[in-house]
Amino acid sequence: MWGQPGPSAAARPLVDPFRRAITYLRVSVTDRCDFRCFYCMSEDMNFLPKRDLLTLEELDRLCTVFVERGVRKLRLTGGEPLVRRNIMTLFAGLSRHLESGALDELTLTTNGSQLARYAHELAGHGVKRVNVSLDTLDPEKFRRITRWGDFAKVMEGIDAAQAAGLRVKINAVALKDLNETEIEALIEWAHGRGMDLTLIEVMPLGEIETQRADQYLPLSLVRARLMDRYTLEDLPESTGGPARYVRVKETGGKLGFITPLTHNFCESCNRVRLTCTGKLYMCLGQEDAADLRTPLRLSEANDAVEQAIEEAISRKPKGHDFVIDRRRSRPAVARHMSVTGG
Ligand code: SAM
Ligand code: SF4
Repeated sequence: MWGQPGPSAAARPLVDPFRRAITYLRVSVTDRCDFRCFYCMSEDMNFLPKRDLLTLEELDRLCTVFVERGVRKLRLTGGEPLVRRNIMTLFAGLSRHLESGALDELTLTTNGSQLARYAHELAGHGVKRVNVSLDTLDPEKFRRITRWGDFAKVMEGIDAAQAAGLRVKINAVALKDLNETEIEALIEWAHGRGMDLTLIEVMPLGEIETQRADQYLPLSLVRARLMDRYTLEDLPESTGGPARYVRVKETGGKLGFITPLTHNFCESCNRVRLTCTGKLYMCLGQEDAADLRTPLRLSEANDAVEQAIEEAISRKPKGHDFVIDRRRSRPAVARHMSVTGG
């Protein structure tokens, strides 16, 4: 059941028409979640029927094909990855690629609600870093943002992750009127605990109750305000993603800005996204996707699925078309972030 990458892994890398090598796969292992963050989901979300989901064995098989074809970093996300039943089996299985040296990093993005329970096991499966999403330090505001979340549980989760030796990075969505005045407090708190902080601009994904333009807080504005108080030193590092990093001189910590609405990162994009039903999205900001579930289930050999992946990568677009527009009430991309993961 658990295959090993073949010897030809590095020999057949996946390269798109713009000569970008695909080395990073994000996998949404479930569309379900125990929170209902208002910018991500509506309160009465309809989730996929369980029969449509790839099994954990199928997810492992697909990830393994990507590792065979040169993917060096896997991030499991969701929905909330830690609410998928038996998810530790998938981490345990994928950890063999870390041991063999075929994979550099196995990691996850989580809301932290289940971390107290799983942090130790994750560390045992070779996970070194986790991204925890947290938009506020105010328990009451936290409840308003997440609707169903319990702030104390997330704090316990972060404590447990650090105690297990995991490096924690905090992701916070910058929200107009909501955490706008709290950004400095978040920086001081995260850096004080040895955690990097990344701020994210709201992206126009999925139908939700509120208008995107009402939530949108441009990070250019946040950055300008921070510069009144802090010295921000640009860091050259690039993840191939939409994040730009600075060192905050006063705290010594790292601060990231993810501005998906700007185009400046597309040319170095090294990633693709797989959903829990086996759809491969070549760009977070485009509708085009390839079905990998059908070729995967067609046969136990991987030829058909590899062909489908190659064909999909040959269609990876140059960039996205996000716009947040007050005149337009429809999202630029209709699917929710919980489908493709963050
Ligand atoms: N449930 C996990 C979590 O919250 O970390 C993983 C999935 S969640 C979809 C991944 C990230 O996407 C989170 O940091 C979340 O804040 C962010 N996110 C969700 N909807 C978003 C949106 N419309 N714009 C920007 N970020 C969003
Ligand atoms: Fe759940 Fe993450 Fe979306 Fe919040 S952002 S509703 S925690 S998937």
